[in-house]
Amino acid sequence: MAKEKGLTPQSQDFSEWYLEVIQKAELADYGPVRGTIVVRPYGYALWENIQGVLDRMFKETGHQNAYFPLFIPMSFLKKEAEHVEGFSPELAVVTHAGGEELEEPLAVRPTSETVIGYMWSRWIKSYRDLPQLLNQWGNVVRWEMRTRPFLRTSEFLWQEGHTAHATREEAEEEVRRMLGIYARLAREYAALPVIEGLKTEKEKFAGAVYTTTIEAMMRDGKALQSGTSHYLGENFARAFDIKFQDKDLQVKYVHTTSWGLSWRFIGAIIMTHGDDGGLILPPRLAPIQVVVVPIYREQSREQVLEAAFDLKKRLLQAGLRVHLDDRDQYTPGYKFHEWELKGVPFRIELGPKDLEAGEAVLASRLGGKERISLEVLPALLPEKLDAFHQALYQRALDFQKAHTRKVDTYGEFKEAVQGGFALAFHCGDKACEKAIQEETTATTRCVPFEAEPEEGLCVRCGRPSAYGKRVVFAKAY
Ligand SMILES: [Zn+2]
Repeated sequence: MAKEKGLTPQSQDFSEWYLEVIQKAELADYGPVRGTIVVRPYGYALWENIQGVLDRMFKETGHQNAYFPLFIPMSFLKKEAEHVEGFSPELAVVTHAGGEELEEPLAVRPTSETVIGYMWSRWIKSYRDLPQLLNQWGNVVRWEMRTRPFLRTSEFLWQEGHTAHATREEAEEEVRRMLGIYARLAREYAALPVIEGLKTEKEKFAGAVYTTTIEAMMRDGKALQSGTSHYLGENFARAFDIKFQDKDLQVKYVHTTSWGLSWRFIGAIIMTHGDDGGLILPPRLAPIQVVVVPIYREQSREQVLEAAFDLKKRLLQAGLRVHLDDRDQYTPGYKFHEWELKGVPFRIELGPKDLEAGEAVLASRLGGKERISLEVLPALLPEKLDAFHQALYQRALDFQKAHTRKVDTYGEFKEAVQGGFALAFHCGDKACEKAIQEETTATTRCVPFEAEPEEGLCVRCGRPSAYGKRVVFAKAY
C-alpha cells in the first residue's frame, strides 16, 4: 500500500511527479475525451476556495456576475482580425444540431469578448450606461494539442471579467486594479510570490492593445502565467460598434478590458509548494486546514474518539476547516501518509497517553512536531496557520531568488533558463524574440513593473533594449 502511494521524486522527473500527485491526492482524473479532466471533490473544494476569495474581491470593487451563452456565431469571432487569428487553431465548432446542418456554425466559446461586445452594443447608449463592470464564472473550450491536467485542458473552468469605460485612463486603471487583485490572491492566499508585469507584443492576448500578467516560478524553475488582465482599447468597440454619447454630446467608442484567472492557478499551487511527499496546500485556500487523527487500541477507542470529536467541535467553533479521520479500517501511519500526500497544513495526533496529559501532538506539513495543551489548541491554531502561510511564502520567494539570474551574454542566458528565470535586455523585435524561443525554448514572461530602470543591449542580437529595464525570460508551462 505504501508503495502504491509513493511518488516519483521531483528531482527524478518533475513532470511525472506532477501527474502522479494530482491523481494520488485525488484532485483530478482524466476524462474519457482526450484532453479533458474530471475535477474530484478535493480538487473542486480547492477551486471553490479560490473562487470565494476572488468573487468577494470582485464584488468589493464594484463588479457584478452575469452569464453569457456557451455558443457563439462564427461570424462574431471573425469581426476582430487579431482575435480570430489567435483563437482559430483551438476552436471547437458545432456544425450539426437537432439532426440538421446549421446555417451558421457555432463556436464553443474560447472566451466571451465577442458575445459580450455584441450585447454591449445594445445596452450602452450614453455615458450614463458606463462603466459596465461584469464578471462571468464559467467554462471555455480550447482544443489544445498537448494537454496536461489543470495547465492545458480542452475545457477549463475560469472567470472572465469584462468591463467597458468612457475613457482610456479609466480602463487602464481597471486593468491594473484587477491584476492587483490577482497578485493579492497569489501572495496573500496562495503564498505565491508572483512577478507582475507587461507582456511583450509577441506574448499578448489576441485582440488586446496590451496584456499584463502575474508570473510564478515552479519548483523545476519554469514559469507559469497565473492570471492576466488586458487593455483592449477600442478594438472590440469598433468591431462590435459599441458607442455612447458622452457628456460633451460627442459619440465615442468605449474602451474595454478583460481579465481572467483559470484553474491553472491550482497547477501553480501544486508546482510551487509541493515536495516529494506530495502536495503542500496554502492554509488560506486549503480545503482542510487541520486533520485530527485519533490513535487508539480496542480498550481506549471510545475514550479517544470522544475526545477527538470534542476537539473537532472546538476547532470548528474557532472557524477552522477541520476533518476528523475516524476511519477504523486504516492505521494511523497510513492516515498520516495520506494527509501528507494531500498537503493538509497541520495534523493533530491524539492518543490515550496524550489525553492523560491533556495534550496533543501537532505536526506541520512543513516539518516539525510539538506537544500542545488541548485547552489552548483551538485558540493557537489560527496563529500557527498564519505562520505556516508566511513560511510557505518565504520558502517560495527564497527559491525564486536563488533561481533568478541577471545575464548579459547569450551563453549565460542559455544556462540560466535551464533551471530558472533569466533577467536580460531585449530589443523588442518579434523576430528576435521568436528566434530566442526556437533556439532555447525560453520565452519572455513579462517586463516587470517593479524592476529598476536600466539600459543595455539585447542579449541575443546586441541592439539597444526596447523596454528601459530587464525582461524576465523563462521556459514556461
Ligand atoms: Zn534582439
